[in-house]
This record gives sequence, structure tokens and C-alpha cells, in this order.
Amino acid sequence: MSTAIVIGAGFGGLALAIRLQSAGIRTTLIEGRDKPGGRAYVWREQGHVFDAGPTVITDPDSLRELWGLSGQDMARDVTLLPVSPFYRLLWDDGRRFDYLGDAEGLEAQIAAFDPADVAGYRRFHAYAEEVYREGYLRLGAVPFLRFRQMLSAAPVLVRLEAYRSVHSLVARFIRDPHLRQAFSFHTLLVGGNPFSTSAIYALIHALERRGGVWFAKGGTNALVAGMLALFERLGGRLLLDAPVARIETEGSRATAVILASGERLAADMIASNADVMHTYRDLLAGTRRGRVKAAILGRQRWSMSLFVLHFGLDKAPEGLAHHTILFGPRYRELVSEIFRGPGLPEDFSLYLHSPCVTDPSLAPPGMSTHYVLAPVPHLGRARVDWARESEAYSERILAALEARVIPGLRAHLRVKRAFTPADFAGALNAHHGSAFSVEPILAQSAWFRPHNRDRTLRNLYLVGAGTHPGAGIPGVVGSAKATAAVMLSDAARA
Ligand SMILES: Cc1cc2nc3c(=O)[nH]c(=O)nc-3n(C[C@H](O)[C@H](O)[C@H](O)COP(=O)(O)OP(=O)(O)OC[C@H]3O[C@@H](n4cnc5c(N)ncnc54)[C@H](O)[C@@H]3O)c2cc1C
Repeated sequence: MSTAIVIGAGFGGLALAIRLQSAGIRTTLIEGRDKPGGRAYVWREQGHVFDAGPTVITDPDSLRELWGLSGQDMARDVTLLPVSPFYRLLWDDGRRFDYLGDAEGLEAQIAAFDPADVAGYRRFHAYAEEVYREGYLRLGAVPFLRFRQMLSAAPVLVRLEAYRSVHSLVARFIRDPHLRQAFSFHTLLVGGNPFSTSAIYALIHALERRGGVWFAKGGTNALVAGMLALFERLGGRLLLDAPVARIETEGSRATAVILASGERLAADMIASNADVMHTYRDLLAGTRRGRVKAAILGRQRWSMSLFVLHFGLDKAPEGLAHHTILFGPRYRELVSEIFRGPGLPEDFSLYLHSPCVTDPSLAPPGMSTHYVLAPVPHLGRARVDWARESEAYSERILAALEARVIPGLRAHLRVKRAFTPADFAGALNAHHGSAFSVEPILAQSAWFRPHNRDRTLRNLYLVGAGTHPGAGIPGVVGSAKATAAVMLSDAARA
């Protein structure tokens, strides 16, 4: 029986470990922190449950598939609750758009902005459906290991105008500037600039319309716990508090991982769910392959970071939606400063997560748990001293929320905690503190993205946001499918 080690228990690492263990590969999942989940870590404080990262669950079928591999039912471990509206969008001129899941409701919202845009929206939706079929269903879980695979995908990419940006594509169909934002902001949820991310990412709209937007009962941490329960039921082994210090190599093979404690664990195959730069620069330090690949990655564009402020209130989440986007006064210019720096922009656009709207159990009775995040430049673009900046930035954000959506917020504050770009770098080994790894532009996608299997070390694999297809839960769960397919085929040949 083959053995495998997966470094990192993020969604990608967990999904890969489940796939390998389901296929009979004896798998050890090694996580550096005290809890699994990675970006989907969890804190608990004074009865508030704070999910650290992902909150919008789309394509639930891609998760159910993980249980289905061993004939099990996801419902045994996880309950998914529907979220409606999918998002509430608020502009600083007072306008509001409820992004609904059903065609009729959504079109009524569009018509309230500009009735002429309903027809344009329908054409945009048809386009999103087509890229969903071609880009997600057909190519999403294909490991792009050979350039000829990229060549064979090229005609479709050209036909779908993948070289255009999401925003320019949306602008072709929709006139109203607010609606153009409403149908292009989604790339930010996977670390992409709407003005430079490939139009292929319009597929997110189809993904949401088809599969809905969901929230795990108990929080995203309950989904992580469910995946872990499945993995362990299958016989998989998880090590926590076990940071990997080094991947040992011999010729063109990875032979073992060396933990920070000095312990050596050998396996036939090794996969890394850790940040790709960290994997090559640090875990393969001292090897030629590590040096070469780290230099290439150093020249790539990295996604922006996030400033995330968790807070608990002693009051219920009255009048709020589960997911609220608060646009600031600028859009294109702000996004450009977030992706290019050189400093922390004065203004912000915010995403407010208020999970108690769907699941009140995440706070003590009558109270509420929230997080608000602002996309900010990564540390390679803006060298902000977050230890100094964090408190003042938190205050500005809370004041904005108080003025726009939660009256009296600061008088009801019980607990707060910030997670800054410096924490992404420190706690998660994320290069430049990027929240989403390598930026999802066309020139860094599919074959051009770090491959699911290393080119030189033939039994070293990557899984997660830094490899194909990219960030977001559906993305990294898809990467696990692609990587598992390569690993299982390699194991069968060995
Ligand atoms: C605030 C936030 C909100 C988001 N919201 C959404 C959302 O609503 N919906 C959505 O679909 N996506 C969302 N995303 C994106 C999504 O969360 C990520 O793309 C995805 O979770 C990344 O998963 P991953 O498998 O790449 O691994 P990660 O979550 O990055 O996990 C990698 C793991 O590797 C571990 N590790 C690193 N180095 C070592 C080492 N040396 N030894 C051992 N372990 C190591 C880390 O501790 C970590 O646990 C959000 C992201 C953030 C940050």
C-alpha cells in the first residue's frame, strides 16, 4: 500500500487527504497550527465563535463528492443552511441592491436601477453559464501538467474572450455603473482585481445561481470539523502543532519531511498545501529546485491581502443581511491602489459578515458575532507597520460601520480582534501576507500557474490556492481533485 504525507490542513489539504485515504493510500496530514482549517481557522471568545476566513459556501456538490467517494453522506457530519439574499450591496450614495438567487427577484432588483439592463443581464448570465461549463466543469479539475493541454484549451479561451477582464466583459452587457460593480466584484473574493482578472471568472456568477450560497451550521469551522471527521473515519492520521521545517530530497525524489521538532516522517508521495513560495523557498531551502522555483515565484504577481476585524456585540444583528458589501466612494482607483500600492489607501470598501442572521448559535443569546474585512495591499506592495496601524484602522472601519449599517456599534462592543497582513505572513507562512496566493490573472492561470505536480521532483505535489485552478473553496477543492488524480495515477504506475 502506498503512503502519502500532506503538509497543511487547509481546505485543499483536507480535501486531498480525504481523496487519497478514500482510494486506499495511507495518508498523514501534518498541520503546523493547533487547529485545522488554514484560512478557515476558528477562535472562540466569551461565547462568540469567530470563523477566520471563508464564509460564502458555493458549489456544495464539490464538497458532497468527498463523502460520496466512500459511499458516505455529508449530512452525517455537516448541515448546510441556505443564505438569502446571497449578498446585500450598499453604496455610499445610499443605494442598495439585494443580490438574490432567483431570476425573478434578481431581475426586479436590476430593473430598479435600470430596466434596460435586464436584457443585458440575461446575456451576461448566458455568458457566465458557458464559461462555467467550459472553464469550471471541463477544465477546473484538469491538472495542467503539459503545455499541449494549454494549447488544446486555447481555442475555447479565445472564443470566450478570456483575455478580457471581468469588468470589461460585464460593462459590455450592463450600463449602470452600480450594476457593473455588482456583477464584477466577485473576483475580489478569490484575490482577483476585477479590472485585470480574466473574464473566465464570470463563472462565479453561474456557480452561485446554479448551486446557491450556503453557510455551514455552526460556522465554516463545522465544515472543517466534518471533513476531518470523515478523514479520520477513513483511517487517516492528523498531526497538529507539527510545523514542517524541511522536505528531504534525494535526486529527483522527495523522500521525507522533517518536522521542526526534528522528527523525520517518510512517505512514497509528499503533497504541500502550504503557501507555494514557503514550500519552495523554505521547505526546499538548500536544493537547486527550491532556489529556481522560488526565484520564478518571486517574479510573479501576488494577490492582495486583507485586514480582518472580528467583533462581538451585546445585541442581535437587527436589520442586517448575512453578507453585506459596503462600497466606498471609489471603485476602479481604490482597487488599483489595493493591487499596486504603494501605501494603505485612505478609503476602503468593506465586506461585513454577520453569521448570526443565519445561525444565532454563534453568539450568546441575544448577542451577535461579526467580522468586517477590507482588502489592502500585500506587504510587498505597501510596507505598512501593522502593529502600529491596526488600532487606528480598526477604529476608522468601526466608525464607518456605525455610520452606515450598525447604529451605536461601539457602545455595544464586547470583544474584538484584528487579523492583519502581518498575521497572514506570520501565522500562515503566506508570501507577502497575501490572502489568496498567486494572483489569478490569465498569465498565471492553468498551465502558467504552479503545477499540481512538481516538474523536477517527481513525487512532490501541490494542492491549494497557489496551484491550478486557484483560490476559493471550490477552487482549492478542485485543486485537490486534480492533484489526487495525478497522485493516484502515479501510485498505480509505481
Ligand atoms: C478572510 C478570508 C475570507 C475568505 N472568504 C471566502 C469565502 O467566503 N468563500 C470562499 O470560497 N473562499 C473564501 N476565501 C478564500 C479561501 O478561504 C482560501 O482560498 C482557501 O481556504 C485556501 O485554502 P488552501 O487549501 O489553499 O489552504 P490554507 O487555508 O492556506 O491552508 C494552508 C495550511 O498549511 C499550513 N502550513 C503552512 N506552512 C506549514 C508548514 N511549514 N508545516 C505545516 N503546515 C503548514 C497552514 O497553517 C494552513 O493550515 C477567503 C479567504 C480569506 C483569507
